[in-house]
Amino acid sequence: MPEAQKEQRIPVVQKILSANDQAALENREHLQARDITTINIMASPGAGKTTLIMATIARLEGDRRVGVVEGDVASQVDAERIASTGAPVVQINTGGACHLDAPMVHSALSALPLDEIDLLFIENVGNLICPVSFDLGQTHSIALISVPEGHDKPYKYPAIFEAVDLVVVTKSDLMPYLDFDLDAFRELVHGLNPEAQVLVVSAKTGDGLDAWIDWLKEYRQ
Ligand code: MG
Ligand code: ZN
Repeated sequence: MPEAQKEQRIPVVQKILSANDQAALENREHLQARDITTINIMASPGAGKTTLIMATIARLEGDRRVGVVEGDVASQVDAERIASTGAPVVQINTGGACHLDAPMVHSALSALPLDEIDLLFIENVGNLICPVSFDLGQTHSIALISVPEGHDKPYKYPAIFEAVDLVVVTKSDLMPYLDFDLDAFRELVHGLNPEAQVLVVSAKTGDGLDAWIDWLKEYRQ
């Protein structure tokens, strides 16, 4: 048999980007081109995402210009709270979807004054499950867990703890009244994700906010 006929055609399989990943790639390019650090915040409903963002805007005033994308199934009450600080904000109502996706964020970006933003928070829909499966084009993903939710969440929702760069325990002012075991929580998180940092904050008292602000500044890309 001639040599040429022995040659096989070797199939080459390339990853075809999903529509979400393609949009996330574009978001990331837009944001990086403007030197914007973008933080995707994931948490349960009521964990204190909006409250932490508002406390952060106050701390960073005159230092970093903050913008916010608010994701909710319905309503714009959180966006109105953010708007009261003067920071630019866009509300995404998912109309029932329990997570944000990259095309939704892409639309939101076109409604924000990106040239006037250094740090962009994307407040995801309150949900510890599927938001983690959708890349939005963020620089970093973080998870918030509030003290009333209990320290056992990493057992129940391991994927989110595996995916994030930072875990913020919120409402630490409630620690004396509830059985949140911080050492056990840290151990569970680090069992899933040895690289994840764990910070403990109270937006109400201001405890721990300095370390949070330092983390944000350090992780400016
Ligand atoms: Mg909120
Ligand atoms: Zn979902």
